[in-house]
Amino acid sequence: MQNREPLDGGRANASVTLTGWGRVEPTVARVSAPGDSNQVAVALKEAPDRGVIARGLGRSYNNAAQNDGGQVIVTTSLNRIVAFDADAGIAVCESGVSLEQLMITGLPAGWFVPVSPGTRQVTVGGAIAADVHGKNHHAAGSFAQHVPWLDLLLPDGQERRVAAADDPRLFWATAGGMGLTGIMLRAAVQLTKVQTSRVRVDTVRTADIDETLAYLEATDSSYGYSVAWLDCLASGARLGRSVITSGDFAQPADLAPKLRRNPLEFRPVTRLNAPDMWPPGLINQYTVALANEAWYRKAPRRRQGEIQTIGTFFHPLDGIRNWNRVYGPGGFRQYQFVVPFGAESTIRTSLERISAARAPSFVTVLKRFGPGNDGLLSFPMPGWTLALDFPARTPGLAGLLNSLDADVLAAGGRVYLAKDSRVPAQTLAAMYPRLQEFRQLRAELDPAGVMASDLSRRLGL
Ligand SMILES: Cc1cc2nc3c(=O)[nH]c(=O)nc-3n(C[C@H](O)[C@H](O)[C@H](O)COP(=O)(O)OP(=O)(O)OC[C@H]3O[C@@H](n4cnc5c(N)ncnc54)[C@H](O)[C@@H]3O)c2cc1C
Repeated sequence: MQNREPLDGGRANASVTLTGWGRVEPTVARVSAPGDSNQVAVALKEAPDRGVIARGLGRSYNNAAQNDGGQVIVTTSLNRIVAFDADAGIAVCESGVSLEQLMITGLPAGWFVPVSPGTRQVTVGGAIAADVHGKNHHAAGSFAQHVPWLDLLLPDGQERRVAAADDPRLFWATAGGMGLTGIMLRAAVQLTKVQTSRVRVDTVRTADIDETLAYLEATDSSYGYSVAWLDCLASGARLGRSVITSGDFAQPADLAPKLRRNPLEFRPVTRLNAPDMWPPGLINQYTVALANEAWYRKAPRRRQGEIQTIGTFFHPLDGIRNWNRVYGPGGFRQYQFVVPFGAESTIRTSLERISAARAPSFVTVLKRFGPGNDGLLSFPMPGWTLALDFPARTPGLAGLLNSLDADVLAAGGRVYLAKDSRVPAQTLAAMYPRLQEFRQLRAELDPAGVMASDLSRRLGL
């Protein structure tokens, strides 16, 4: 069974084959899905020698939420919103609550999640453990910066409330710590005030990478949310041509009279379900080149003030359930890196390498990050981040990604732990200067190595 959210009740303890969203590197673990914190404590106490890791909705692309031969605790039954203060916009929720649930709860009172990744099908626990970022990183930082406290079940079975203000060391090891400091049971999330559930969007089509970078830089402070979708196969004078969408939540006055009647309406829908029988090789340099050409030409050269739904603007891929199957049985590898401002040439070189290799990334996204935070392993730093996804069986992919690793490292950048499935341990250590502090804290907190995942074993986290 892969990526079906398994098992009701905490007692089931079946052997299950798991992958991440990229559907590469399946491994088998004992999986349980506790329904309350006591059952989580029991599962942790009964951890086998290969240890335990939490799993939310399995949307990390890699094997961060897998544990070959060990225990995986799925949190999706810990899905209660414990309290919601509609005046202050603070939601206290169990860690398996999804961002979609938070939106359904908050929006009627005018509150939206502070940070949303490109899918709302992630849990609060997963959002904190990866310290996820969204299109508003330059303005709002990453998810953990909006979490006043969390309740953590430590590897020794003790439960502790961890607030950034009181215990910054443990808090900032847990935020971005990929589940390796313990199992989060609950968290408080400070939501963001909005007047409507629609976004007022400006769209611009750029001719090349220079124009893309210049536009994003010039408009950084003009919009709360911003992202560029790139044509990764364009080359020469068209290298890095993009469609950039930027926006902010609309005011009621921006809406047509019909929408103004219910300005906070939010009806999440999934229109299609991708079947599990896509032929291998469907996503290739020819189909991606065609799709990119069509999508680039369809975009307006410049359009202002278009009103879009939350789904269209933030989560276009959520419209198709299981869209990851489109890559066929070989799955796909996400590669996301950040390089500091000043290293724009690395973005250019990467795009040159990718288009020269004819490596077909179906979804290629560039954005600017604002300041980083205290997370020992948090990904964002001030700079440019480029996310790519390639069919895992793309010829020459390993060599291409090795070259990108070297460029990113030389530029002082890093890859994202929620996505990486192949970087060597020494390369990762060179990219994350605070990894040693993280390892030190883990050695003190978890001397027996109870918390473990396929990712932590590969990278020695
Ligand atoms: C379509 C798509 C778009 C995406 N866009 C973005 C984006 O824009 N920005 C971004 O930052 N990320 C993005 N992601 C990645 C995603 O947001 C993260 O991987 C997130 O961590 C997934 O949450 P999850 O609930 O599915 O967690 P899982 O994938 O199940 O687990 C992820 C990590 O969280 C840990 N974890 C989960 N729950 C707990 C818990 N209760 N206690 C302790 N540890 C826990 C796991 O051990 C694991 O290490 C995207 C993913 C997809 C599929």
